[in-house]
Amino acid sequence: MALQSKVPPGALDQKWTQYRSTIKLVSPANKRKLEVIVIGTGLAGASAAASLAELGYKVKAFCFQDSPRRAHSIAAQGGINAAKNYRNDGDSIYRLFYDTIKGGDYRSREENVYRLAEVSVNIIDQCVAQGVPFAREYGGLLDNRSFGGVQVSRTFYARGQTGQQLLIGAYQALERQIGLGNIKMYSRHEMLDVVISDGNANGIIARDLITGEIQRHGAHAVVLATGGYGNVFFLSTNAMGCNVTAIWKAYKKGAFFGNPCFTQIHPTCLPVHGEYQSKLTLMSESLRNDGRVWVSKTKGDKRKASEIPEGERDYYLERKYPSFGNLVPRDIASRAAKEVCDEGRGAGPTGLAVYLDFEDAIKRLGQNVVSARYGNLFEMYEKITGDDPYKTPMMIYPAVHYTMGGLWVDYNLMTTVPGLYAIGECNFSDHGANRLGASALMQGLADGYFVLPYTIGEYLSGEILSGNVNTNSMEFIEAEENVRSRIKKLLNNKGGKTVDYFHRMLGKVMWDDCGMARSRESLLRAEGEVKKIEQEFWENVKVPGKENEFNQELEKAGRVADFIELGALMIQDALHREESCGGHFRLEYQTPEGEALRNDDQFMYVAAWEYAGNGNAQMHKEELNYETVHPTQRSYK
Ligand SMILES: Cc1cc2nc3c(=O)[nH]c(=O)nc-3n(C[C@H](O)[C@H](O)[C@H](O)COP(=O)(O)OP(=O)(O)OC[C@H]3O[C@@H](n4cnc5c(N)ncnc54)[C@H](O)[C@@H]3O)c2cc1C
Repeated sequence: MALQSKVPPGALDQKWTQYRSTIKLVSPANKRKLEVIVIGTGLAGASAAASLAELGYKVKAFCFQDSPRRAHSIAAQGGINAAKNYRNDGDSIYRLFYDTIKGGDYRSREENVYRLAEVSVNIIDQCVAQGVPFAREYGGLLDNRSFGGVQVSRTFYARGQTGQQLLIGAYQALERQIGLGNIKMYSRHEMLDVVISDGNANGIIARDLITGEIQRHGAHAVVLATGGYGNVFFLSTNAMGCNVTAIWKAYKKGAFFGNPCFTQIHPTCLPVHGEYQSKLTLMSESLRNDGRVWVSKTKGDKRKASEIPEGERDYYLERKYPSFGNLVPRDIASRAAKEVCDEGRGAGPTGLAVYLDFEDAIKRLGQNVVSARYGNLFEMYEKITGDDPYKTPMMIYPAVHYTMGGLWVDYNLMTTVPGLYAIGECNFSDHGANRLGASALMQGLADGYFVLPYTIGEYLSGEILSGNVNTNSMEFIEAEENVRSRIKKLLNNKGGKTVDYFHRMLGKVMWDDCGMARSRESLLRAEGEVKKIEQEFWENVKVPGKENEFNQELEKAGRVADFIELGALMIQDALHREESCGGHFRLEYQTPEGEALRNDDQFMYVAAWEYAGNGNAQMHKEELNYETVHPTQRSYK
């Protein structure tokens, strides 16, 4: 099957405007007859569901939390990008587009990224109108700060709670439509399969997580907005519930999986401190605006930070990357931290940490200014570690944070299954091999508020005569049967090991061998290990409780089983990509200075994997054409 990106013709900066004006419309009277299922109520899902309902479609929204307000988007701290140029520092739509393409190491689709930069401007207006309390400067205008990988200040923020405030905005819009009866909200429901009839997505199978009831839901289109799958690594900055199940089921039903191995490792997280830890905490990247990153110049230096004199400190990011300094992109900063720690110059008892120091910023700006910018992050750090970052530098280390891979989508955000859409972090779109900070929130809201509501009309205009979906069809019955039998299989296994035991094992293999740096050797090792984990899981997992009750171990078991299969695909993808790019760093392919070495001649494509049964996958390529930005070796020096 040849991949059709469906990018419209025309000049890059006119494509979206022209296309938007020609997409097929659905009349208001017909919209009322059409139902859309939206899975997920994070920023992408909540904004999409609210917008579709405002347009007049009938929407059913699902999330597994007790309230849409608890979607993982709430955790986002640092900010959201937009090309408003409020700072008059030379920003523009083109620059945001260019930075995002370069930041993604030339592995994203130009036309989607240009559209993202274009609509970023509308997102801020929409959110302000909704009452999102963005930070303002003394004149009353919205304030901006800078983030890694760029030389302008284009990040809008609400202290260190940007995701939460944006989600409250989207949630209000969602609630308004729930109140009006246009959205039916199913919280505490988990989608466990997508139903496809005559080649088109037309429903889902969901489990009510409180009662265990298995339900069939039909619709004329299904939108997945189910977030990222970073928890395949067990330890990550993601909320504990984040998982891959929804998009994995869609993959197994024919939706291609794009670039599964592209994982972002964030440089600014609290270091791992023990074997039984289950979560890593992110300290927002915004801290690198004013915090300086350093380690001792001496190997094995066990002195406290305050005892290491200025002349014996290595501000390695400022030294290696004078133009961007501490604001290099995440992949570069993460690898640089790994490098100094691997050299034996890491801080703290484990040696797997570097300092993030605010001493200079406090001297320059005063504690009040630093506190106004980052106060809640400093409090959070102190609560977790017991150290006061106003007095002693924070200790940080890279951790898994975001997944650039996800379901492959065309320009309309539709997967390879007609009628099945993927938006937000769960699609592969826009960030290439590395995401720049503050761009995920931008993408989620762009997709939900400004792209999908138009592009879905193209498909739904063909559905107006199809009438109500028959949920008693063979396809629904079979999908429900499959869901039930898998649940039974998990519960009847009666093994001796917990679900977490397998998840932790999988995470360790993925981090050690398919994590911050990979090699052919490590990936082949991981391949074998994951096979063993999968076999042992099905022989020996123990899932207590029953199916017709609230059973969180059962929920976790299904998700971990999917993670194990995903892990194998990630390894396969990482193995085939014999180059380094962005977050995918193959040790065999690096420049003499240790930077990622792309191989554009052979790998300038999206790898889109099609499920081929029995754990096999077949790769399809979407070649990437850079007509406007010309790929060069990425440099931040
Ligand atoms: C700690 C942290 C800080 C971050 N800070 C920033 C930042 O400052 N700026 C930035 O741009 N990005 C940031 N990010 C990234 C950003 O938060 C995420 O990429 C983004 O919020 C994802 O939004 P989403 O709507 O795609 O998915 P989520 O917000 O993850 O929502 C997923 C939704 O899908 C539902 N769901 C999933 N599976 C199922 C299923 N099977 N059945 C039913 N429902 C399901 C969930 O219930 C949830 O409602 C941060 C990420 C982390 C981890």
